[in-house]
Amino acid sequence: MSEVALLVEGLAAGYGPLKIVRGVSLACRPHELTVLLGRNGAGKTTTLSAIAGLIPTMEGTVSLFGTPQTGTTVDRVQAGVGLVQEGKRVFRARSVEDNLRLGGYSIRRTRGAISDGIDRAYERFPILKEKRRDVAGSLSGGQQQMLAIAQALMPQPTVLMLDEPSAGLAPAIVEQVFGEIASLAKDGLCVLLVEQLIDHSLAVADRVAVLDGGQITIDTDIASLDNLDRLRESYLGTSFTEAGSADGRERTPRT
Ligand code: ATP
Repeated sequence: MSEVALLVEGLAAGYGPLKIVRGVSLACRPHELTVLLGRNGAGKTTTLSAIAGLIPTMEGTVSLFGTPQTGTTVDRVQAGVGLVQEGKRVFRARSVEDNLRLGGYSIRRTRGAISDGIDRAYERFPILKEKRRDVAGSLSGGQQQMLAIAQALMPQPTVLMLDEPSAGLAPAIVEQVFGEIASLAKDGLCVLLVEQLIDHSLAVADRVAVLDGGQITIDTDIASLDNLDRLRESYLGTSFTEAGSADGRERTPRT
């Protein structure tokens, strides 16, 4: 089994004095896709935000290949942590290529490194090359999500976290986006995916973790997950379906 890329131990995090998650521990490896599931409000986004350094860690540690991460978000990007935030897709008024360039500038890459990164992005997502001069706002929802992922890849992370990349996308596009995310893990990245679409995500995941009431209640590899119904009913809510979420929150599909 390969070395742990991202190790979260006893993490507590929240907002102001309010502790939203506590005692969260996770170990994610290169070439592995871990899906983090949980009801609305369970603390999934809070967990990703703390790992990325967007909010402070109240207790516990976040380590990358054995090195504790205590710095700012930029320090963590430099160390190899990437995050595609939910809904924060792209700079809509800027061209596709500018968006990619901005992804590289976030850690002050050299001009050569940025153009290499852009070449890699075009190789992975040929549609972005085709549309490189178009403004990002003119792309379809799925293409914008690909651009957001490509932008997060510009600093060459070793750990990539994605927060509900399917949100607002039409079902046919979701398949494609999940395929791309799975191929990132196959190519060696350690991927931590937060999702509402349980069946789609379990289809591509190597491991599954469930957050319930701010704590990890299940953490297992997919092969050992023998009772999907129990997972669905006990930890995700009986009304949790691919079409909606536990609280019935509506999503507007985009093409
Ligand atoms: P969802 O699937 O709805 O995005 P989640 O599991 O990602 O849910 P979080 O977004 O982490 O959950 O939210 C967990 C709790 O933290 C919720 O009760 C939410 O209201 C609260 N919360 C989120 N952001 C803030 C904030 N900036 N200030 C205070 N409370 C917050």
